[in-house]
Amino acid sequence: MKLVIAQMKHETNTFSPVPTPLARFARGGGMPPEGEAAIAAYRGTGAAIAAFIELAERAGANISVPIAASAAPSGPVDEAAYEHIAGRIVEAVAAGCDAVLLDLHGAMVARRFDDGEGELLRRIRAVAPSVPIGVALDMHTNLYDAMGEHASVIAGYQTYPHIDMYETGLRAGRAALAQLAGRARPTMAWGRQPMLPHVMRQGTDDSPNRELQARCREMELRGALAASVFVGFPNADIEFAGLSAVVVTDNDPALARRWCDELLERAWSVRAQFVYTPEPLAQSIAQAQALAAAKPAGSGPIVLLDHSDNCASGGTMDTMTVLGAMLDAGLRDAAAFAVFDPDAVQRLIAAGVGADVSLPLGGKLDMPSLHLQGVPRNVSGRVKLITDGRYRNIGPMARGELQTMGPTVVLDSGGIDIVVISNHVEPHDLAAFTAVGIAPQHKTFVMLKSRVHWRAGLRSLAHAVVECNGTGVCTSDYAALNHRRVRRPIYPLDPL
Ligand SMILES: [Zn+2]
Repeated sequence: MKLVIAQMKHETNTFSPVPTPLARFARGGGMPPEGEAAIAAYRGTGAAIAAFIELAERAGANISVPIAASAAPSGPVDEAAYEHIAGRIVEAVAAGCDAVLLDLHGAMVARRFDDGEGELLRRIRAVAPSVPIGVALDMHTNLYDAMGEHASVIAGYQTYPHIDMYETGLRAGRAALAQLAGRARPTMAWGRQPMLPHVMRQGTDDSPNRELQARCREMELRGALAASVFVGFPNADIEFAGLSAVVVTDNDPALARRWCDELLERAWSVRAQFVYTPEPLAQSIAQAQALAAAKPAGSGPIVLLDHSDNCASGGTMDTMTVLGAMLDAGLRDAAAFAVFDPDAVQRLIAAGVGADVSLPLGGKLDMPSLHLQGVPRNVSGRVKLITDGRYRNIGPMARGELQTMGPTVVLDSGGIDIVVISNHVEPHDLAAFTAVGIAPQHKTFVMLKSRVHWRAGLRSLAHAVVECNGTGVCTSDYAALNHRRVRRPIYPLDPL
């Protein structure tokens, strides 16, 4: 038995000015890993591709891993990058195989294709019309029909923060291998609702997504091979951005249809709970100060979420609105993770540990889609630490995966330890802080450029959380995003 196993993951924020060349998929420079290097990078981790590798090895299969390509979210994928990654995968399938297992994202927009995953699957089907194709997808998938038409099995993450990537790989992989062995006949139903759930309201610790995902798991306990509600990724101006569902049954298309429709109806009935209304930033900062004044000693930090500039949703990670408000308010005993500013990092490294420095920080990237120019903030402080920015996640999210922040500096402003990084990395793991010598549990305030994933590794440390409405391409303001290409009418942009 020969299996082709591959990864092609990118969540595309079509409003983001951050470019997406092939090098962004390489995690630490060079080219995305292939073959044995790809297997070594992911074996034993919490990724969906790790589950595929394990299933294949256990089955004694001959494995081909043409590429494992995963990039932090950013703007549309360069054509050369897309063609390289898709080309490697299609080549490997065309060389002959019995099944294909794919670790995809589901919200990849390439320069020439709004539906990067559907286009990949269409090309695979052109060279392998009948092999089983098992696909693991992120919960932020924006589902196009081509994905449902060409995949044999689709399974999506059921947690946000995404702490079940590996289990999702097991569900997709087992069903596809059962099909190959003649032990199952997967039949799939899918559909969409005209709604754009806000990312800040999508966490599975909270209603309504907690209940939607619980119903998916119930369906799987009652015999579905996979049941998924995709809350979708709204920061993409493409026709089919938004919520969808896929149910896979064993040779029971009517049941797949009925359960899929049920999930879609449940989601529609709670659409108002997916709407997010932020409060003014000044009010949030004042609330954080009040919480800090009242909290018992040793009770963990007040977390300030700069959710409009979350790099794991395509943010530039260099807007200074929230950090600037913290500096203006004189917050002390604080840490901020992080500001993306490779030029500032180089200046700080040149100054050296212990040097006192004043420099314009952040605000280097304009955001033309929002008609915004980058606004740096002059910051003075002392260089506290310099590191290569490499660490491995402890988990529970993306456990064991290598993170590469690139050259990284901690700048102590006198009240705030500001982490300045050269590659986009979202803080969702305690190791992000231990790698730079900061113990966030002992700070009074911790600012995070994150929306929901921070909860995975850091929520248990926090005394309280304050959502801070800053600037960035992850803005909560749908009107500012001015979607032009998404299908209309769609809730909540239109009164439905
Ligand atoms: Zn996601």
